[in-house]
Amino acid sequence: MAAIVDVEKCNGCETCVEECPSEAIEMANEKAGINAETCVDCGACVDACPSEAISME
Ligand code: SF4
Ligand code: SF4
Repeated sequence: MAAIVDVEKCNGCETCVEECPSEAIEMANEKAGINAETCVDCGACVDACPSEAISME
């Protein structure tokens, strides 16, 4: 499992970047991108995202 960002819903707020404990999220073109290699599946970004753009798959 890893967190996945729906870029259509992402508004570029960077809240998830601040909440991620493993620095697995980076912004590119104002959209969040999650590195599945470093994501520890904690779910913090899913709860923190105001746009419900992140899900666990
Ligand atoms: S918290 Fe949600 S809307 Fe904000 S940058 Fe992250 S994925 Fe995008
Ligand atoms: S699930 Fe946790 S470790 Fe993975 S990207 Fe989200 S906040 Fe970071």
